[in-house]
Amino acid sequence: MTVRIGVIGTGAIGRDHARRINQVLSGGTITALSDVNRASAEAVRADIAPDATVFDTGENLIASPDVDAVLVTSWGATHQQYVLAAIAAGKPCFCEKPLATTAEGAKRIVDAEVAHGTRLVQVGFMRRYDEGYVALKAALAQTGAPIMVHAAHRNPSVPEAYTTPMAIHDTLIHEIDVFRWLLDDDYVSARVTFPRSCARTHAKLRDPQIVTLVTAKGVVINTEIFVNCHYGYDIQCEVVGEDGVASLPEPMAIKMRLNASLQNPILTDWKDRFVASYDVELQDFLKAAAQGTASGPTSWDGYMAAVASDACVQAQESEGQAIAIAHPDRPALYAQG
Ligand code: NAD
Repeated sequence: MTVRIGVIGTGAIGRDHARRINQVLSGGTITALSDVNRASAEAVRADIAPDATVFDTGENLIASPDVDAVLVTSWGATHQQYVLAAIAAGKPCFCEKPLATTAEGAKRIVDAEVAHGTRLVQVGFMRRYDEGYVALKAALAQTGAPIMVHAAHRNPSVPEAYTTPMAIHDTLIHEIDVFRWLLDDDYVSARVTFPRSCARTHAKLRDPQIVTLVTAKGVVINTEIFVNCHYGYDIQCEVVGEDGVASLPEPMAIKMRLNASLQNPILTDWKDRFVASYDVELQDFLKAAAQGTASGPTSWDGYMAAVASDACVQAQESEGQAIAIAHPDRPALYAQG
């Protein structure tokens, strides 16, 4: 079966996902597009999906009999309304992060999916599909029960519009999800420490910052977020276990002996770092959508990420204080997630 896909939000990642589905992956075809900026949807139709219909609203796209499944790749604040509409229509839905901009919004989606009775939503936490993280998770079987995680999320620079809470909502959100999955654990508290700000930051951004998350099993995770690090885009993760230490592999890069030095290039653009994992996550979505369901990161994962994010932002505001993170009982629908 070829799954007929409608894309809501045809900006940077919506266009790229449409390209993947029509040109790289198997089992799906783009039949519908919608964007508040209609010209953007028209451009994607012209360049990537000539057979697609452009719809005036996301709701009309979801209701179309030519759409079997939906990609929600619009701005974060609009995700909730479209995911709820897809669930109401009983159509599988891939939603880019965040699932919703508030924990309450994400909970509404969980409740709607639980009421529907089967899974329909996959959240775009693509790191779970990255071969480095997959290998790291497998390695934890040898290094023994995890005790500590040392991690870093570094960007060369960010625009002026990027402010202190965005370090959580836009940046740490990926670590928040992937560490829950990596450790098979939930968070119980968050604390944020600010070193002196770096010279390259601006008045509305305290950078860098260190977020300390503690899990229900007692693992302490220290993540440095440094989004004006200047030298490159660099993701680090080291898990210290009872019997050994496992580290996330570096991206493949040519090692050069040159000008009396040993050199290893570092990426500078986040888009290149997890590019292969986007293909794998969407192929997984197409496979499940062909069966009328969803797999991979769940609405529950999106909700738990939103709960932890809110606590981290609160921890930023009460610098140095530990903020408790609730982890309510997981509905049976998400038992495997
Ligand atoms: P973008 O601004 O390039 O594109 C968003 C598009 O959505 C724009 O074309 C805009 O006109 C459209 N839009 C806004 N409101 C809409 C609405 N109500 N209905 C329909 N269309 C609407 O942004 P982007 O970089 O493509 O990011 C989109 C989403 O994807 C964000 O939530 C972002 O966090 C997420 N994202 C995730 C990753 C990842 O690594 N998983 C990477 C990039 C972006």
